[in-house]
Amino acid sequence: MPILRLAIPSPLRRLFDYLPPAECPAPLRAGQRLLVEFARRQVVAVLVEVAQSSELPTDKLKPALRLLDPEPLLPPELLRLLGWAVSYYHHGPGEVYPAALPLALRGSDGVAEPRLKRWRITAAGRERLAAGPGRSPRGHELLERLAQAHEGVIPQQLKELNWDWRPAMRRLREQGLVSEQRASCLEPPQPPSPAPQLNDEQQSAVESVTAALDGYHAFLLDGVTGSGKTEVYLRLIEAVVARGRQALLLVPEIGLTPQTVARFRARIPHPIAVLHSGLADGERLCAWQAARRGEARVVIGTRSALFTPLAAPGIIIVDEEHDASFKQQDGFRYSARDLAVVRAHHASIPVLLGSATPALESLANARAGRYTRLALTRRAGDAKPPRIGLLDMRRARLDEGLSEPLLALMERHLKADGQVLLFLNRRGYAPTLLCHACGEAPKCPRCEVNYNLSLVHRRLRCHHCDTERPVPHQCPSCGSPELVPVGLGTERIEQALARRFPGIGVVRIDRDSTRRKGSFEQALAAIHSGEHKLLIGTQMLAKGHHFPNVTLVAILDADQGLYSLDFRAGERLAQLILQVAGRAGRAERPGEVVIQTHLPDHPLLNQLVHQGYPGFAAAALDARKQGRLPPYAHMALLRAEAQNGELPRAFLSEAYGLARVLNTGEVELLGPVAAPMEKRAGRYRVQLLLSSQRREALHKLLDGLLPKLDGLKSGRKVRWSLDVDPVDGY
Ligand code: ADP
Ligand code: ZN
Ligand code: ZN
Repeated sequence: MPILRLAIPSPLRRLFDYLPPAECPAPLRAGQRLLVEFARRQVVAVLVEVAQSSELPTDKLKPALRLLDPEPLLPPELLRLLGWAVSYYHHGPGEVYPAALPLALRGSDGVAEPRLKRWRITAAGRERLAAGPGRSPRGHELLERLAQAHEGVIPQQLKELNWDWRPAMRRLREQGLVSEQRASCLEPPQPPSPAPQLNDEQQSAVESVTAALDGYHAFLLDGVTGSGKTEVYLRLIEAVVARGRQALLLVPEIGLTPQTVARFRARIPHPIAVLHSGLADGERLCAWQAARRGEARVVIGTRSALFTPLAAPGIIIVDEEHDASFKQQDGFRYSARDLAVVRAHHASIPVLLGSATPALESLANARAGRYTRLALTRRAGDAKPPRIGLLDMRRARLDEGLSEPLLALMERHLKADGQVLLFLNRRGYAPTLLCHACGEAPKCPRCEVNYNLSLVHRRLRCHHCDTERPVPHQCPSCGSPELVPVGLGTERIEQALARRFPGIGVVRIDRDSTRRKGSFEQALAAIHSGEHKLLIGTQMLAKGHHFPNVTLVAILDADQGLYSLDFRAGERLAQLILQVAGRAGRAERPGEVVIQTHLPDHPLLNQLVHQGYPGFAAAALDARKQGRLPPYAHMALLRAEAQNGELPRAFLSEAYGLARVLNTGEVELLGPVAAPMEKRAGRYRVQLLLSSQRREALHKLLDGLLPKLDGLKSGRKVRWSLDVDPVDGY
């Protein structure tokens, strides 16, 4: 009797043996799901391996209840990747395998693939449309929308309407004004729009990768902002699809805007599946299945799309590969960028990592010859690189954080009919509300940090745990009514701009202003139409967008990042500055970038201004080597938290003791120490850092350590987790 080795959603770090179900309609193969009874519940398990024997006697094994899939959902190449991830990240298979499935396939109730609908306007509908809105403006709006779409419209395409269109659609159907058909969840491809002629650098990048399509090869596309990396992706995707293979493109969370997707749809006349967190479960399942069956020729998605099964994988592309959103920060903590390289290796296909500001890890891999570096050093088309300069804020007159010289510059660019983008990575009005009488500031009791003040929402809010409360009229400590907002947030700049530049359209883009569905898209459209001339925003505004009329970009406060203790802070700041700077002068009009700082002599800022990212990166890599930090060391962070601060310390002290015994001297153990943010959402956080110059030494220690930690009593009183290759110290 074959033994089924199953990944079962449970924190236990192992597979579980079961017998085949009594009635089994199909042959059993790895990658199928089974319904099993586990801990008196029915759960969905993934078949990882069919074995010949078990360590347990057969009569102790239970049969699975039911086979759920006639054929494997996960292809062998993907199963191998997941197996690799289990051992590399030291997470349980019950956490890792389900992560590869859409939510709809993880539950025991078995969600069916939704029957998607497509609507078309009928001849009667066109007549009604011509007759005007009458008493039904919403029905009219829907008809207008449908009349524009030759192929009809599927529900996803109506999301932009921002109101519940379903009742109106039902009425239109009842009146025979709209017809309904079943649809695939993939939008029908459009006739392709023309492609620009590639420049020499783009051409040579495309040729290098196309020459390597038949096997594994890792490339780093190191191209300055606006150099036409996306154009290179498009050509490679075309080449891969022409060979009957599929392309998988990963983009950062923020990058998956309708704008990006539209650009790919406009150029690639093949079905494209788009996977992002905003999809309903059914939609996600549909896109996932279309990719698995090979109907979708191209898959575009954020982090977790890396696990999309592909019928015929041909290439994996990771855009903005340095972006922190590729790292999953809770549960199964993986790096989609790193796993993309592993998956490409297992699938024998090329992988292309693209960025204007590559991660130091990726640059080190290129230096070591593991990745082939392809450089795009010039902006595509007629665009010129922006001039970057520092604005010394010391002793400058300031109006709400805007220095006189900056205001003068803004005036000049606005007069010349340019748009101005101001970047500040802090939302709200001010990060602190301070009592002028006693110096106290209201703090979030759960995180012990100052509340952020939002005037728009009239709330004090904690950006770490999302609790909020009304703005007090008096100091909670001394009763004084003199409470003053201290520091700058995007709301405050927005107000200052409206006051300084009356009559000029100002738009603020941050997580607050874009919360309502569709508002982000609306704001972007108003920027493109030129309605807004002054743009203030956080990194939501800074990354990936193409604003042809922005000629001045100002980074209002670079200094915050220069004071941080995190060894990656410098790299992040450099990447952010250059990404923001990259929004300037992307078309014919030259761009100018200024960075306001109180530290104009700081080496990092000067490297960036005078030598660009390559100069910064070279210096930063040297410093990392000196300091024995990644990429010249390999790290794992053991975190623990509990409401009682003693418990995580006790657990990590035990962990430390166990690790010391296992250590052959090659792993450095640092801690237990309080996390940089010691308390969050009412829980005290402590951590233990393990670091080694040899990856194998670190992993060998972890292999021995984790089973021991699983057995610790002190571990049951805390929430603990292991983060391999952590990217932030929190
Ligand atoms: P990146 O992804 O490197 O930031 P994009 O691919 O978005 O750059 O290209 C920037 C702009 O240059 C886009 O408007 C794009 O259409 C245009 N572009 C790209 N390649 C070329 C080319 N070879 N000739 C003319 N324009 C190009
Ligand atoms: Zn006070
Ligand atoms: Zn809080």
